Amino acid sequence: MAEDEHEHVRVAVVGSGFGGLGAAVRLRREGITDFVVLERADSVGGTWRDNSYPGCACDVPSHLYSFSFAPNPDWPRTFSGQQHIRAYLEHVTDVFGLRPHIRLNSEVTRMAWNGERLCWDIETSAGNLSADVVVSATGPLSDPKIPDIPGLDSFPGTVFHSARWDHDYDLTGKRVAMVGTGASAIQIVPSIQPVVGKLTLFQRTPPWVLPRVDRAISGAERWLHRQLPFTAQLRRGLLWGIRELQVQAFTKRPNELGFVEQLARRNMARAIKDPALRARLTPDYRIGCKRILLSSDYYPALARPNVDVVTGGLSEVRGSTLVAADGTTAEIDAIIFGTGFHVTDMPIAERVVGADGKTLAEVWKDGMEALRGASAAGFPNWMTIIGPNTGLGNSSMILMIESQLTYMADYIRQLDVLGGRVALDARPNAVRAWNHRVQERMKRTVWNTGGCTSWYLDANGRNTTIWPGTTSEFRRATRRVDLAEYDVLRAPARCDAAERQDAEVSA
Ligand SMILES: Cc1cc2nc3c(=O)[nH]c(=O)nc-3n(C[C@H](O)[C@H](O)[C@H](O)COP(=O)(O)OP(=O)(O)OC[C@H]3O[C@@H](n4cnc5c(N)ncnc54)[C@H](O)[C@@H]3O)c2cc1C
Repeated sequence: MAEDEHEHVRVAVVGSGFGGLGAAVRLRREGITDFVVLERADSVGGTWRDNSYPGCACDVPSHLYSFSFAPNPDWPRTFSGQQHIRAYLEHVTDVFGLRPHIRLNSEVTRMAWNGERLCWDIETSAGNLSADVVVSATGPLSDPKIPDIPGLDSFPGTVFHSARWDHDYDLTGKRVAMVGTGASAIQIVPSIQPVVGKLTLFQRTPPWVLPRVDRAISGAERWLHRQLPFTAQLRRGLLWGIRELQVQAFTKRPNELGFVEQLARRNMARAIKDPALRARLTPDYRIGCKRILLSSDYYPALARPNVDVVTGGLSEVRGSTLVAADGTTAEIDAIIFGTGFHVTDMPIAERVVGADGKTLAEVWKDGMEALRGASAAGFPNWMTIIGPNTGLGNSSMILMIESQLTYMADYIRQLDVLGGRVALDARPNAVRAWNHRVQERMKRTVWNTGGCTSWYLDANGRNTTIWPGTTSEFRRATRRVDLAEYDVLRAPARCDAAERQDAEVSA
């Protein structure tokens, strides 16, 4: 290939978590083989590769937290651990023949829309390529966030984030600070409490925590699911149905969640006998406003004598002394940040350059929005999996991913039907109308009215992450692409180098 020439593919998928691998399976099923999956890491798995902290597991039952087209009768536990979910994704990669498409160690550093040739010019750490369509599945929870704490740079000990666990660092007997009380932190705390010397938990806001009914799935159950696959489907259906029924309370009648708060209070009272500690651990917002966490060993761990709960959050680091907002200090050897991810300011948005030369981050500076969670205006033939307002507070994200994959498949089908060099660009008024409907529905939800601040809300206080409805409503909304919501762009020029060469030869 000449220097200015590069590989061209029909579809470039970015990311190899559930979203990217699911997209790859779907493309193959649609008969499309001219695609690549670009992954910055050295293996597939996304969330389940990166989060290897002790105790890491899903908090949606495994039979629902898996692909509908790749049931696993052998899930070992109701809430399987990280290693089993990661192994499942490796298995999916093999069984569906995805390996030849996957480019590991290929970080996308820039994708720019080429309006003349109607394709995406993509720069990666492993070389450049172009694609007719980009499916961005870089994940909402893939870039860890560490808060800007004064003095942190001068901390003499070890510092790491829950999603980048330092397995070479031995926590045994150490004075450890856990910063944050989110879904990861409440799994880490009971896992490390028995081995550390002292654990200081820096809590800004206490979570609501319900008991986690986790158990090993028996050999008989697994045998049944293997022999009679409909039993596994039935199990999945029940798990899904229960969660669908809960949605109304989250979206329309948050007051109904009051009785769930009672269950959470009881869960705490069983383990925490000290009334002062109980007061510090009791949230002052409606349950569900932040993600409801599941754990039966978090509170018992907090009640152990080697654990201190410091409220107000971490405000400063002075050498090896950590200072909380309420002035409490603690001498620390290692700091573990369980402080979440860049969700509403996802780094990939800075690397995507649309039709008018602006980055997606610039277009989204006042808040993320995308038609049906997938298409942003001015970014033709680019779609995102788990885009704006597609997150869930109570069910499996795989359901939302699969709906988006149906939308993706129809999008590509529509391009085929239109024929020639063609692209679809979401109309600004269609994006606005979709987003208006979503935000109107959001007004009554517990996420907006429950009296908390959470990572669901962006810097302007707008909820740009959660889907304010049932998963079946989202499935209906993404069943097919409505061409009336898109401008159809056409170009005479061809995108790929091979076709350009052909044109030159025949001329
Ligand atoms: C600890 C933890 C527990 C969770 N538990 C649950 C649960 O129980 N239930 C649930 O529904 N959801 C859960 N989630 C949410 C979870 O993230 C989603 O369910 C799902 O795994 C997201 O899949 P994804 O493919 O969209 O993103 P990811 O799994 O994050 O994959 C994104 C991939 O994109 C790659 N990537 C990013 N940027 C680039 C780039 N520039 N170039 C190339 N590659 C790039 C990343 O390396 C990564 O491999 C959990 C999340 C975390 C962090």
